[in-house]
Amino acid sequence: MFADIWQDFLTIVREEVGSRVVETWLKAVAVQQWDLDSKTLYIEAPNTFVKEWIQSRYTKLFEHHLGRLFNTAGLKVVFLSKVSQSDQPVKDSLATIIPAKLSNVSHEIKHELVRKTNTGYTRLNPTYKFDSFVVGPSNSLAYAAARAVADEPGRLYNPLFIYGGSGLGKTHLLHAIGNALLEKHPKCVVLYQTADRFVNEFINGIRFNKFHEFQQKYRELDVLLIDDIQFISNKEQTQEAFFHIFNTLHEAHKQIVFSSDIFPRHITGLAERLRSRLEWGLVTDIHKPPLETKIAILKKKAAVHGEMIDDALAEYIAQYAESNVRELEGSLVRVLAFASLTKQPITLELAHRVLGGQKVERKTHKIDFTKIAEVVCEHYSYRLTDLRSNNRAKELSLARQVAMYLMKKMTDKSLREIGTFLGRRDHSTVIHAFDKVQKGLECDPALKSAVQSLEEAISR
Ligand code: ADP
Ligand code: MG
Repeated sequence: MFADIWQDFLTIVREEVGSRVVETWLKAVAVQQWDLDSKTLYIEAPNTFVKEWIQSRYTKLFEHHLGRLFNTAGLKVVFLSKVSQSDQPVKDSLATIIPAKLSNVSHEIKHELVRKTNTGYTRLNPTYKFDSFVVGPSNSLAYAAARAVADEPGRLYNPLFIYGGSGLGKTHLLHAIGNALLEKHPKCVVLYQTADRFVNEFINGIRFNKFHEFQQKYRELDVLLIDDIQFISNKEQTQEAFFHIFNTLHEAHKQIVFSSDIFPRHITGLAERLRSRLEWGLVTDIHKPPLETKIAILKKKAAVHGEMIDDALAEYIAQYAESNVRELEGSLVRVLAFASLTKQPITLELAHRVLGGQKVERKTHKIDFTKIAEVVCEHYSYRLTDLRSNNRAKELSLARQVAMYLMKKMTDKSLREIGTFLGRRDHSTVIHAFDKVQKGLECDPALKSAVQSLEEAISR
């Protein structure tokens, strides 16, 4: 019976506060005992950290819903933590345990890390190299900085922070640094990690009492490449852990490289001391490539596929992706695939047949998240970082919900993608926003006219 009630409870919580909370925190705990006399439910967490986290944030939620599910008014929830030796460290504040010098890290671990690193542990993509990166005015600074860092890690720009829009080559450059370093110094311990995965690793470290291993792994690195650091925003505990890892590596002159879709100062929900560190070294940006660069990229990518394309054809394909190299590549791949499948030569006519229809569609649908966010932000006088923040001020929440509504209505992107773009929100939040705005349109003429004029502005 407990199991059923617990499952119902998780379902309700998932709807109410999102599946992230359930997956990360609630699945770590279990009902330990139900005391009928005192109407108390004892819940056991794997360690003090999880216990305190849940207790401070979700006690009311537990008591409210479990009270209903157990049909018991005034139900009390008491959280316990498993007592174990390894629980001890997390009991202390993270700040006090992290800087504590680890006892001499064994050579085996270091060796293991190097081995894993060089056999794909870092998930370095072997095709993302400096040689396969086309340099143009939009990315030459970022490229030069990345090269300098790969030549002399930890010396020139530390950290290096590369920011720019989606699909413009940030991830490519991070991998290129890693690949170049490993080529020159095969023993160098390089780790490429997305901030997202870093957050999960940290949480799992805490949940499964592997925190020291987690710490140790990072403190042992020679080079740390963190992609999409903006996803660490609003994750206070992870930021704290990361702050200390950063300090350790930086003090030891180990190279750290970040990428982000925005400038460090504009990342909301970031502790000030971490934010300032992100800007300590060199901050450089990548812009949208001009036509010449796009043509050069297309020719290079075609060569990778063993094909030659001329300037005219490259220019023709380039017009289908105005700003994003990932889309550019997508168009090229479609043309190459079609030619190969139908055994035809790659000509302008063929490209037109493959992409022509898309162009008409693109004319009416060439709407992306950035465009929608820009128009919504301008209308409501907010910035993108406000939309992505956790601030729930009424007007801001409305702007955010309208943005979600328009993104769902005007693009064919998934709920998950919309949620991710607007500050890592759960897909159920997007559905909720969509429904709310749709209902609002029926009964609120002001909202209706605002949304209509926004749609027109976005389509223009
Ligand atoms: P971001 O991380 O900025 O979103 P990526 O690094 O994932 O973008 O790039 C998207 C795709 O575009 C990748 O396949 C990458 O190789 C390619 N790309 C981007 N910029 C360039 C460039 N200047 N030269 C060659 N390929 C590029
Ligand atoms: Mg990327």
